[in-house]
Amino acid sequence: MKYKNLGLLIKSFLTCYRGEWDSICKGCGACCYQKNETDEGVIYIDFNSPCTYLDTYTNQCTVYENRFKICKDCSRLGARHALFARWLPPDCGYVETFRKEP
Ligand code: SF4
Ligand code: SF4
Repeated sequence: MKYKNLGLLIKSFLTCYRGEWDSICKGCGACCYQKNETDEGVIYIDFNSPCTYLDTYTNQCTVYENRFKICKDCSRLGARHALFARWLPPDCGYVETFRKEP
């Protein structure tokens, strides 16, 4: 796996410039579904199992402002996920922005 736009990643995330970092998200909601792993170690998104707080019609979080308090399974998507999380779909804004396939 190769990477790109690492300057933007550092500027946006490590300096906590949240607006720019958050704007990379396309709001598809794909990361708000349960992740499972096959016996072969392949991690995939189970689109039959959305988070309780995801509006699956709009793909919007219904508790966005308080999501980390309300949902114990919710965590901020950070630089590590953007670069390495195997379960993010290829059309995720962070994958498209920061990963470059060989
Ligand atoms: S999968 Fe990526 S683009 Fe889609 S909602 Fe999650 S972070 Fe945003
Ligand atoms: S609580 Fe977190 S995982 Fe659940 S819908 Fe909201 S942002 Fe997604």
